Amino acid sequence: MSEITKEILDRMIDGRSSWEELVAVMRADKEPDRFAKYREVLQERATWRDRILLPIALHLCIVQKDDGARVVKCDCGHEFGDYRRNWKLSARVRVRNTKAGIDELYPHPMGCNPEWMELREYFCPGCYTQLDVEAVPPGYPVVFNFLPDLEAFYAEWLGEKI
Ligand SMILES: [Zn+2]
Repeated sequence: MSEITKEILDRMIDGRSSWEELVAVMRADKEPDRFAKYREVLQERATWRDRILLPIALHLCIVQKDDGARVVKCDCGHEFGDYRRNWKLSARVRVRNTKAGIDELYPHPMGCNPEWMELREYFCPGCYTQLDVEAVPPGYPVVFNFLPDLEAFYAEWLGEKI
């Protein structure tokens, strides 16, 4: 594959790529501007105008507001607040900690034992899109997936100042 275009990235985001196209992308060398292209595709798809700094999950990005604040934002526009605070603490949560609740997703015997593990599903309060799922022991603290060093990422990897 010669060039990974924005159209290919757009199809990948929506899961519309063929298996052959995905394999070709995975095997290809990553071009230096891949992140810029990916960010452009996300920015063009956004229904809001805040600048995307970093996608952190499917449907979630860290954006920069006009006042300089950096917040976690869902595709739908819902804002979870400062990116240094775990966005999951402001999400809707469904905890599957019963055999029936777990069997609904993973029929026996594929599911976990609820005495040893629970499934926590996190949803956006704005659009109810499922944003993440944790499989953790009961009582385990909410997992903070990712706290990026935005300044270092932009300065050292992209040669930009934000
Ligand atoms: Zn949302």
